[in-house]
Amino acid sequence: MLLRAPRTPLVPSDVPDPEPGPGELRIRVAACGVCRTDLHVADGELPDPKLPLVLGHEIVGRVDALGPGVERFREGDRVGIPWLGWTCGACPACRSGRENLCARARFTGYQRDGGFAEAAVADARYAFPVPEAYGDAEAAPLLCAGLIGYRAWAPVRGAERLGLYGFGAAAHIVAQLARHAGQRVFAFTRPGDAEAQSFARGLGAEWAGASGERPPEPLDAAILFAPVGALVPAALAASAPGATVVCAGIHMSDIPAFPYALLWGERTVRSVANLTRRDGEELLALAPRVPVRTQVVPYPLERANEALADLREGRLRGAAVLVP
Ligand SMILES: [Zn+2]
Ligand SMILES: [Zn+2]
Repeated sequence: MLLRAPRTPLVPSDVPDPEPGPGELRIRVAACGVCRTDLHVADGELPDPKLPLVLGHEIVGRVDALGPGVERFREGDRVGIPWLGWTCGACPACRSGRENLCARARFTGYQRDGGFAEAAVADARYAFPVPEAYGDAEAAPLLCAGLIGYRAWAPVRGAERLGLYGFGAAAHIVAQLARHAGQRVFAFTRPGDAEAQSFARGLGAEWAGASGERPPEPLDAAILFAPVGALVPAALAASAPGATVVCAGIHMSDIPAFPYALLWGERTVRSVANLTRRDGEELLALAPRVPVRTQVVPYPLERANEALADLREGRLRGAAVLVP
């Protein structure tokens, strides 16, 4: 399913199978998750994508061809391919364990072709073995919703009262991690979305309400998954002194001006960007132990545009996954 230009629908296309170069492997795609970042690329909100482009960076499949020099995997291995597709390995960020901030990084389904396809090629160094506890479709959302959720959650995993704004694919995974760690979870959804609120309660949230509401107790931390800048002052207003508000999305509408009193009291606002391979190793080891269960909504590959539209309109309960 090719994106030929931003703000146009994906087009079903016949292209030759990609050939793995040195250090690369080719995957026969078994499932590929649909992420909000795919929407941002398709909608032209992220600059300069490769074009034409195969979206998709939550790929699960089996290796069916190896380029020269690949030692880590063999044909038939089940692997997951995440957003982080390549880093330079030489810059200060890469050399200090922060490859997620590499200025030369290249990302799957953005600068490299991704997994909205029957086959994909990836640099073997950035592929993960997929835990056996998960089916192909169930594993796919771990690779971005899970990974970016994990990276956003890690700095606030010690907070007692955790607010999650936007209860989609990432939040439904983080809620399970948080409950497992003994945190209390408060879920915020679009106003009137009773279905999402009951979904959140079913995953252990002790309270669920609209994003503008005050929770029954102030929050010690909040993670914003919804790409809405106005949620930053809303989350600060719902937070206790010392709280941290983490912006987890790659793109957000502008944050409106707000009174300094909302930040006062050593509240912190921060973002998280991308992932490191270490995040992936940690999450994929932790998820089966919790165990995190992913709720997936499967779509045939050729209905990718429908999956994107359902995500845009907030119609999903859990994670959309394309199945070739
Ligand atoms: Zn680098
Ligand atoms: Zn993503």
